[in-house]
Amino acid sequence: MNDLFLKIIKGEIPSAKIYEDEHTFAFLDINPHNKGHTLVIPKKPYRNILDIPEETLCHMIKTVRTLAPAIQKATGAHGINLGMNNERAAGQEIFHAHIHIVPRFEDDNIYQPAKHTSYSEGEKEALAEAIRKHITST
Ligand code: AMP
Repeated sequence: MNDLFLKIIKGEIPSAKIYEDEHTFAFLDINPHNKGHTLVIPKKPYRNILDIPEETLCHMIKTVRTLAPAIQKATGAHGINLGMNNERAAGQEIFHAHIHIVPRFEDDNIYQPAKHTSYSEGEKEALAEAIRKHITST
């Protein structure tokens, strides 16, 4: 299996590791948005939010909660963004689930302002109903 992040966990590819426990692993992103940009990954190779079990996601979030203050203190960041790209259309390039922790600084302007769209009359309510119908537990 050609999973880059599994190779990082195994030490077959070098990384700047900052944390590891039974379920998760974290290391600095090689192409950071800001210095200290960290990736938190599960040790098991789930693809993304669409297939990851709830329990594994909880382990990842717990690790994010542990690391975010440490990253903030070490970098002097004023804030922290969390991100997760899921599938190619959403910008995912590595298909081993990961959460980005990105330190932010006032006026660093690293992201373009997001585009917005709008709903026609009744469309929002219909879409909310469609989404509610598809909710299942994980
Ligand atoms: P995504 O676009 O959400 O799939 O993000 C993948 C991230 O993995 C990118 O931010 C890359 O810079 C990062 N990345 C790719 N290869 C490596 C590597 N060998 N070590 C650390 N980070 C990596």
